[in-house]
Amino acid sequence: CLGYSSAAPEICERTLIAVKPDGVQRRMVGEVIKRFEQRGFKLVGIKMLQASEAVLSKHYHDLQKKPFYPALIRYMASGPVVAMGSMVWEGHNVVRSSRLMVGETDSSQAKPGTVRGDFSVHISRNIIHASDSVEVAEKEIGLWFHTAELITWETNDHSDLYQV
Ligand code: GDP
Ligand code: MG
Repeated sequence: CLGYSSAAPEICERTLIAVKPDGVQRRMVGEVIKRFEQRGFKLVGIKMLQASEAVLSKHYHDLQKKPFYPALIRYMASGPVVAMGSMVWEGHNVVRSSRLMVGETDSSQAKPGTVRGDFSVHISRNIIHASDSVEVAEKEIGLWFHTAELITWETNDHSDLYQV
């Protein structure tokens, strides 16, 4: 975010987007990247990994008491071919905008045009994760990425996307 942070701190907002194991299995990674790129968000980190239970339990800490929690952790860590693409993006209001692009948690309520509304049918297999607040996004980025894995770079189309 270097370069314009002092002029417009909100442009430095970042979020964590993750294609979940079902999304990776269903070859949705490219589709998700495409949607966030074409919207104008800047990709600053990306990797594929097998999520550990340690990371997942921190990531879904607030859902620990929910009846679906064990199934959620199994889902997110499932099987030998499970992988997760995690993307950190930054842009103006990226947290809110990306939640709108992702759609309702319950896929059956997610609007057409959203990732979940276009590609999933059930809350238990909803393809994608997006941080739900700026504070949570910062925590999640710290959980999934080392600082050195986040790249500071300037986009050439900045003035076409933002006035500042
Ligand atoms: P999100 O921020 O929209 O992903 O939703 P939450 O943070 O509330 O929940 C995290 C994830 O847990 C969701 O994306 C779903 O994969 C799963 N989940 C949430 N609620 C339910 C539920 O009622 N049943 C099941 N099976 N999974 C759920
Ligand atoms: Mg959430």
